[in-house]
Amino acid sequence: MPVKTPRAPARRLALNVLLLFIFAFFGLRGQAAWAKLRVATTVPDLAALVQEIGGPDTQVVSLSLATQDPHWVDARPNLALELSKADMLVVVGLQLEIGWLPNLQVGSRNGKIQVGGPGYVDASQFVTLLGVPTGTIDRSMGDVHPGGNPHYLYDPRSAAKVALGLAERMAALDPAQASTYRANASALVGRIDAARAGWEARLLGLKGRPLVDYHRSWTYVEDWLGFRILTDVEPRPGVPPSPKHVLEVLTQMKASQARLILVEEFYQNATLDQLAAQAGGKVLRMPGGTRFQDGERYLDRMERAVQVLESGL
Ligand SMILES: [Zn+2]
Repeated sequence: MPVKTPRAPARRLALNVLLLFIFAFFGLRGQAAWAKLRVATTVPDLAALVQEIGGPDTQVVSLSLATQDPHWVDARPNLALELSKADMLVVVGLQLEIGWLPNLQVGSRNGKIQVGGPGYVDASQFVTLLGVPTGTIDRSMGDVHPGGNPHYLYDPRSAAKVALGLAERMAALDPAQASTYRANASALVGRIDAARAGWEARLLGLKGRPLVDYHRSWTYVEDWLGFRILTDVEPRPGVPPSPKHVLEVLTQMKASQARLILVEEFYQNATLDQLAAQAGGKVLRMPGGTRFQDGERYLDRMERAVQVLESGL
């Protein structure tokens, strides 16, 4: 059988080109699978936002649960292990995590997520801060909000700004998916804005009403919904109240006819029920965050918060 030698080089070239395409295709696929963005966040509200922006291909882990006070998280070694694998670490900032996160960052031995590293993102840069102290306040006085109030994720307007900011940082780390991140964030903001209009209508009755909170976590929600935080049961953020201070709060509540006390579910304080009863009101036990581990989304967590607030009307 004669070999058609003149056509062999052309055929070989075609074969090589085909192989090149195959390698390029699988090579890129392999790289994409390897480069899947891994994100750790300090609180579950941030994790839920990142997951919606990143979609199912982004691996997201929250270092704390919605049932934990984010000021005081137990820095277990498995959290350092999570950080060692992360391309990106998103923190609330404003010293919220200062009591537990720095040791974990060091323990992770991951340069990407150290302060100033390419994957370190302080989300407080994306929001308009409230509760920034004007006098000299520091943690030596027990105050855990020295840089401004860190509980901005309770306000959907702030969450929307954070979502857009995070999409840009994710796009910078993973340019191949930049348009997906931006489109997902923009769609999420659209959903938040649409839901927000409904929540505002349902909670109109809170406008101008004096409320009391346990921890000063509600500054941004106060600004959003227009109620008025009369005082806090904690004399300073992070400092448990003395019986004398609780009595002073009761006097203020009676004088201003404030009947509602806002507190996150993770604060176990029986004093609050007695205080509310003596003021003729009730305690509103609010979600402390998104139940991210159970697959909850930020919008559903906000809906739960709005329902609890509604029960106080
Ligand atoms: Zn706080």
